[in-house]
Amino acid sequence: MFNIGNIKVSRVVESEGPFAPIDVFFPDVEREVIEANRDWLMPRFIDPATEMIILNIQSYVLRTAHHTILVDTCVGNHKERPGRASFHQLNLPYLADLAAAGVQPEDVDFVMCTHLHIDHVGWNTKLVDGRWVPTFPNAKYIFGRTEYEFWEQRHIDGTQGPVPNVYDDSVLPVMEAGQAVLVDMDHQIDDNMWFEPAPGHTAGNMILHLQAGDDRAVLSGDVMHHPLQLIRPEWSSRACEDPVQSTVTRRALIERYADTDTLIAPAHFASPTAGHIIRRGDAFAFRLLGEE
Ligand SMILES: [Zn+2]
Repeated sequence: MFNIGNIKVSRVVESEGPFAPIDVFFPDVEREVIEANRDWLMPRFIDPATEMIILNIQSYVLRTAHHTILVDTCVGNHKERPGRASFHQLNLPYLADLAAAGVQPEDVDFVMCTHLHIDHVGWNTKLVDGRWVPTFPNAKYIFGRTEYEFWEQRHIDGTQGPVPNVYDDSVLPVMEAGQAVLVDMDHQIDDNMWFEPAPGHTAGNMILHLQAGDDRAVLSGDVMHHPLQLIRPEWSSRACEDPVQSTVTRRALIERYADTDTLIAPAHFASPTAGHIIRRGDAFAFRLLGEE
């Protein structure tokens, strides 16, 4: 999809399509704003027939000279997700698609999760003989310590939030297998790759920077879910744990990278997903890579 120096970045899509009505996902949405921006939002980012937002659930695959890295691991198969029909007991060909991209599970050296929500940790584990085991047997899984401890505490308290089971079946088994590495939110992997805190969507939410020479990209995770938020950065999603802080973080990221060469690779934007933030009038818009 794109290269940052000799880091090759590609994507493996678990699912993509109409996800939720706009006003359900973005409670603050204003009708006039959709109408004024139809020309670039539809049909790619909003389905004209249903007016649902189109979201993509995917992993980024980073291949460096030495390592294969997966960033965020989607929803996963066979997970019990009561109350979340679109995530419940999936049986999707994610591992076959990963193999088609040239990656076998044993090839993965690192799994990185920007945060530990339901759609970012699923393929951390797979079901084998009734037990959840790490899908990637040779990988170290890098979790932000703040994020891990937040969900661990909810697990201990028995208050996991709106979606039960996620920590239990997709995070804890990795820890118990000794494959988890907890890092600070500004952890530097190497000269070309480092995390930065991006709190709001979750308390321990992080973004991942890639840089080599003049090439720069930001894997921005769930700081933004949808290009609508470039028009109205204050529209936090219903999935944001702290909508006010989420807005602060989102607005800062948008203003920092608007009209720069830095590629922005969000978790959930419709394919081909990555692009550049541009100023448009007194707001912002998104130009997908290859369509500029
Ligand atoms: Zn997400």
